[in-house]
Amino acid sequence: DIRVRFCPSPTGLPHVGLIRTVLFNWAYARHNGGKLVFRIEDTDSARDSEESYEQLLDALRWLEIDWDEGVEVGGPHAPYRQSQRHDLYRGVLDKLIAADAVYESYSTAEEIDARNAANGRAKQLGYDNFDRTLTDEQKAAFRAEGREPAWRLRVPDEDLTYVDLIRGEVTFPAGSFPDFVLVRAGGVPLYPFVNPVDDALMGITHVIRGEDLMPSTARQLALYGALVDAGVTTFVPRFAHMPLVLGEVGNKKLSKRDPQADLFLQREKGFIHEGLLNYLSLLGWSIGPDRDVFSLDELVAAFDIVDVNPNPARFDQKKAESINGDHIRMLQPADFAARIVPYLAAAGLVSETPTPAQEKMIEASAPLIQERLQLLGDAPALLGFLFTDDIVYADDALASLPANASEVLVASVGALELVPESEFTTSAVQEALAAALIAPADEGGLGLKPRVAYGPLRVALSGRRISPPLFESMELLGKPETIRRLRALV
Ligand code: GLU
Repeated sequence: DIRVRFCPSPTGLPHVGLIRTVLFNWAYARHNGGKLVFRIEDTDSARDSEESYEQLLDALRWLEIDWDEGVEVGGPHAPYRQSQRHDLYRGVLDKLIAADAVYESYSTAEEIDARNAANGRAKQLGYDNFDRTLTDEQKAAFRAEGREPAWRLRVPDEDLTYVDLIRGEVTFPAGSFPDFVLVRAGGVPLYPFVNPVDDALMGITHVIRGEDLMPSTARQLALYGALVDAGVTTFVPRFAHMPLVLGEVGNKKLSKRDPQADLFLQREKGFIHEGLLNYLSLLGWSIGPDRDVFSLDELVAAFDIVDVNPNPARFDQKKAESINGDHIRMLQPADFAARIVPYLAAAGLVSETPTPAQEKMIEASAPLIQERLQLLGDAPALLGFLFTDDIVYADDALASLPANASEVLVASVGALELVPESEFTTSAVQEALAAALIAPADEGGLGLKPRVAYGPLRVALSGRRISPPLFESMELLGKPETIRRLRALV
């Protein structure tokens, strides 16, 4: 059975690269009826934070990415936070000691540097595997000095090869790196140790992660060999390294500090999770030629990790927003209305729990903008005029008024006053205004082009040049308020 994992370190805000990682793992698990394990790699107490952990949970819940085992939900391999697994790591270390896969190392950084200098060996090569051959007497002498050993893996002196599911065969030549520390003096297990150990203990079959982690695969393969020999696990997982995500310009990696990388900022702008996940899935994967928009179900049905492209993918905010717009249009109207509420509330237009009157207005007005929105965060600007009596005219809107704006407004008020309040509907309003403004002079109208005629009305109603459909808006505002606003701009 396929078992994949998402194992972030809780440092900083969730970024879109991390979300693409969990998305591909999730889609792979769901496509294959496998399991997604959510583990927290909090081995760096200086950088890890509880706040970041909470944000990860918030992110996955918002995205509706679910996991089968892990933090919060538990499972047969609990606990799922590395900071709570030290006893397990000690047990694995004991097995590696018994199998003679690791050895005690006493060399300090200074001693290593000094030996390298004396032997004409480059400093950057680092540790020289000196302690591999320490005798029992030498070890006893170090201990007598009060030194405590670190534990290093005995790295086999041979090429390490694996077949990357995205990149094909990869070989790390023998001697690329020295014996490395798994457990520090004093017993602290290090990240290069606990990451593969947890994958082994949790039965992870596929390690799917970013290309930036590929160099660490060499050490992990070496360690995995030892874990198999020591009976900790019976198999080595398959590895797949997803392509880098580039920023919008140049050939630089999308940085965590890039605003586009900030998941919560994107949510604040008004991405819906369906749209964002659809876009992120395109960073290295494709459902087929000329097809950018699809549902999560379609993604799951089609997804295979071997189809992921190894070449870097570029983050494109415009394209992401346009795809988001497509997903917004696909929402059920009531769902759409519910999803804009937090944005209207954040803008101070409605209460967090809208009043019945606000509720009614939201439901009635949401359909007017659903077709034209790419981000939910644009809803307050478009709908704001329906939730306030206090119209603020935008400068560009005032500048757009034609010379005859007052004449148009006066004629409009005259025409609308003749429409009974109980029949103040979209079609009645449209008919009355068309007769007064568009109809030719010999039929009693002003003979204006629609753009000239309706522009001033739009500004009067909303304060903006661009607004939801005009006549529908008038119906929503009702006769007295519509006429009041038209008069106010005369
Ligand atoms: N904890 C690692 C990170 O946050 C993940 C390493 C892995 O996927 O193997 O980058």
